[in-house]
Amino acid sequence: MGSERLLLVTGGSRGIGAATALKAGTRDYFVCVNYRRSFEAAASVVDGIRERGGDGIPVHADVGREKDVTRLFDAIDALPGNLVGVVNNAGELAPAARLENMDYDRWKSILTTNLFGTMCCTREGIRRMSRRFGGVGGAIVNVSSAASRTGAPNEYVDYAASKGAVDSFTIGVAREVAADGIRVNAVRPGFIRTRIHAEGGDPRRVERLQDALPMRRAGEPDEVAEAILWLLSDEASYVTGSFIDMAGGL
Ligand code: NAP
Repeated sequence: MGSERLLLVTGGSRGIGAATALKAGTRDYFVCVNYRRSFEAAASVVDGIRERGGDGIPVHADVGREKDVTRLFDAIDALPGNLVGVVNNAGELAPAARLENMDYDRWKSILTTNLFGTMCCTREGIRRMSRRFGGVGGAIVNVSSAASRTGAPNEYVDYAASKGAVDSFTIGVAREVAADGIRVNAVRPGFIRTRIHAEGGDPRRVERLQDALPMRRAGEPDEVAEAILWLLSDEASYVTGSFIDMAGGL
């Protein structure tokens, strides 16, 4: 636990979050791997980080619950070193449906995780990283979606709306904290091979739709992780309020 540079990856137990956490561990970050349901999955990501010569810890929190987020950041505060980065990756969707068949509870769950979770972790990250409050500065990367641009009609307009809100939030907060030493950016992936599609009730979604993409293939979590790591890094020192679209040309 010697590293001084703490990075939080929400939803780090699998998919894009796990790929990001694993790569971050090789780039001089001590990685706080947040999970909601599976301690074992998060612990195995931490094992992977250690096998690659890095270090980290699994930290539980449902990012949609403010009390959990407070506990998550309390755990980070107890670590030696400074928080220098937050990756707001935790996200969920629900089975494909048209708007007239969606209920209110579904919207509440999606908005709570995807938008409120991102807002809450961003606020806590800023309170710790901002030079305005004695922090050392840092970077935040939000994992939005190509759906924020397409609107995801007939599938997930609620999910798309949550990601559209994340985009607006990214732009506004980036401008708000730019002079305080914090950069805020987002990636907008689409059709990445992860379990989110199965969780949304359609495990073969990527295989079914990938031929319609300009690049004729799905993306891999590692490809998204690489962009996230770049946005976090000093190589991106003049980039804020920006988006990297990663959807095979969509
Ligand atoms: P995934 O494999 O389903 O991973 C999602 C992760 O988020 C899981 O670790 C999940 O953990 C966690 N999570 C969900 N709700 C949470 C909550 N309230 N609190 C804490 N953790 C929570 O999906 P993924 O594709 O890697 O998704 C990562 C991000 O990429 C999401 O924001 C998603 O919207 C975005 N994205 C993905 C794609 C794609 O094609 N895969 C495209 C566009 C955008 P639990 O299972 O424990 O809840």
